[in-house]
Amino acid sequence: MKVVQRLVPDNKKPKYNVNGKLVILPMTPEYITIHETDNTNTGANADAHSRLQLNGNSRKASWHIQVDCQQAIQSLPFYEAGMHAGDGTNGSGNRKSIGVEICVNSDGDYEKALQNAAEVVGQLMKQFSIPSHKVVPHKHWSGKNCPRNLLQGRWQEFVNRCIAERGKLEQGVDEVKEQKLSDAQEDVRQEAIRLGITDGNDPFRVVNQYYVWNATIPLAKRIEELEKKMK
Ligand SMILES: [Zn+2]
Repeated sequence: MKVVQRLVPDNKKPKYNVNGKLVILPMTPEYITIHETDNTNTGANADAHSRLQLNGNSRKASWHIQVDCQQAIQSLPFYEAGMHAGDGTNGSGNRKSIGVEICVNSDGDYEKALQNAAEVVGQLMKQFSIPSHKVVPHKHWSGKNCPRNLLQGRWQEFVNRCIAERGKLEQGVDEVKEQKLSDAQEDVRQEAIRLGITDGNDPFRVVNQYYVWNATIPLAKRIEELEKKMK
């Protein structure tokens, strides 16, 4: 799912009041907060919501992405805090989460909007290494009944779809499996097996953090043993 960027200029963004100064606050995303716009009016789609933000939202609210049945539009950089979680200036919802609004306009296809949202959230989970238990409904932060439709028995289904989308993306970078090793590469593989760094499987797997740990721990242990012997 391509995310179209239509970033709100700084002078149109709602700002936080910190010690009497109105400021834009930086953010390191740790959570993703899911909303529904709750606006069923005809035409209240992602385009309309992005323009609402672009023109300076009078409601002093801002969010990172709006998604409908056709597209996803980004309004704020992910490294900037929005104002969407209702948990105040120091709340983790506002200060540590990417806000995603799902459109519920009556002339749109809500099911397709959900699928598009799951794809976008899957991408964000991967990009920022956000685990599924940190994908939360707006309600989690402030008690507000949002996202209203999803909270009527479909929340877990939605999170599962986000996890599935993330999984698809992660498999996508892991496709070069059947490639053969050259003789020199085979030597390296054998040496790595001898040293206990790897079991030798999946030599072309894209390295992720777990595999780095897995490879590093036996090495560190061997160094420890050697150091003991030298004493
Ligand atoms: Zn909400």
